[in-house]
Amino acid sequence: MSDSYSNVNPCHMCMPMGSVLAFRGLESCMPIFHGSQGCSTYMRLYLAHHFREPVDIASSALSEKGAVYGGSANLKKGLKNLIHGYKPKAIGVATTCLAETIGDDVGQIIREFQQEEPLARGLPIIHVATPSYRGSHEEGYANALQAIVQQTVADLPPRDRLNRSKLYRRRSNSSSLNLILGTAVSPADVRYLKSMLRAWGLELDVTILPDISETFDAPLSPGLSMMPEGGTPLADVARMGLSRQTITLGGRFQESSAGAYLEERFGVPNTVLPLSIGLENSDRFVSEVERATDMALPREYELERGRLLDTMVDVHKYLAEVRAAIFGDTEMAIGLAKLLCEVGAVPAIVATGSKSPGFIEAVRSISPGSKALAGVDFSDIQAEVKKSEIEILIGTSNGRQISKAERIPLVRVGLPCSDRVGAGRQLTIGYEGAGRLLDTLANTLMEGDSRR
Ligand code: SF4
Repeated sequence: MSDSYSNVNPCHMCMPMGSVLAFRGLESCMPIFHGSQGCSTYMRLYLAHHFREPVDIASSALSEKGAVYGGSANLKKGLKNLIHGYKPKAIGVATTCLAETIGDDVGQIIREFQQEEPLARGLPIIHVATPSYRGSHEEGYANALQAIVQQTVADLPPRDRLNRSKLYRRRSNSSSLNLILGTAVSPADVRYLKSMLRAWGLELDVTILPDISETFDAPLSPGLSMMPEGGTPLADVARMGLSRQTITLGGRFQESSAGAYLEERFGVPNTVLPLSIGLENSDRFVSEVERATDMALPREYELERGRLLDTMVDVHKYLAEVRAAIFGDTEMAIGLAKLLCEVGAVPAIVATGSKSPGFIEAVRSISPGSKALAGVDFSDIQAEVKKSEIEILIGTSNGRQISKAERIPLVRVGLPCSDRVGAGRQLTIGYEGAGRLLDTLANTLMEGDSRR
């Protein structure tokens, strides 16, 4: 990690931004930031550039007066305007640095608001603390997911908790499995998981949280809808405490965990897996679903797995021993490192901006020779790239300055991707995602060779 006191070009984003990725995965849920106006403007722009979709985020627009006397009046006014303007089915309130610094009791303000405002009665208003000086967008995402289940999942009477399987059988339209995406993925990734579960015959038995497959990648339609369609239905989230198992994909390096909360509070066993990037990580997810449901992977996905093996053979001669620098979100970076190892490439640098405990050890466990960096910025990464004979960069578009300065090609993966289109349609998980990533990496290297 750098000795610098400042963060020059951060390799992570603000904590409240992560909460938007979770809140917008709930059906008709509108996010609002309690803090200064600029936070929501900056994050709306960032997300709109990445997803190429309008991304509305309301703001309580705190001014100097609010900062001195407290932001209760601003937040209540913002919530009221939001309900009138958007008519959401739920609201997600995330704090920014300013609201956290002045110490507003957001839960209490919301309780008062729900008593004072008739339109807010019965409307789920979920609040989460997201002070950016304490973590990155990854912590914001994990905190928001945990807040969603903490504040939405219905309480069960104790005797029913003890007799879960009986209750489970009694449920109509039941969800037997929770699939929690513990790490933010693309809308295409969520669509892939939904298709796979549909082919398995499990689409009605699995609650995916959050479901951004449509909300961040909506089809073009006449007229601009105030609230995008899609998202995990709130009624399904409310029943997650009744499911017989949770599978959490990713999110191993953040303290907050929606799956761990469901296990602790409702006794729903939580299996935490790495994000399904690469062959082995995809196999682990498939095996877990097979074990939980006693149903074999559908044949079309067996064929897809076979095609990935074929792709690995095809690209091996281009990727073997190629030295790569990977940077971005923790699970994404580790998944990409694993994929590279599977085809004989060398993840020489694996870096993240998050100060996540366990990241360095996790990198070493899959690739002992890699330089693992946590809590770094792009100046640190560039310094390592300069001395590591790197042939390809893999990570967010914020690595483009290194790419330009060091004349090393950058394959854009993950969030943010602000200087290319298609981030919402980028598939990285599963057998197909791994095959596409490998094709892109090999083609990028071949193109570089043909230019020399
Ligand atoms: S660092 Fe804090 S104040 Fe600045 S944009 Fe992020 S959330 Fe807002």
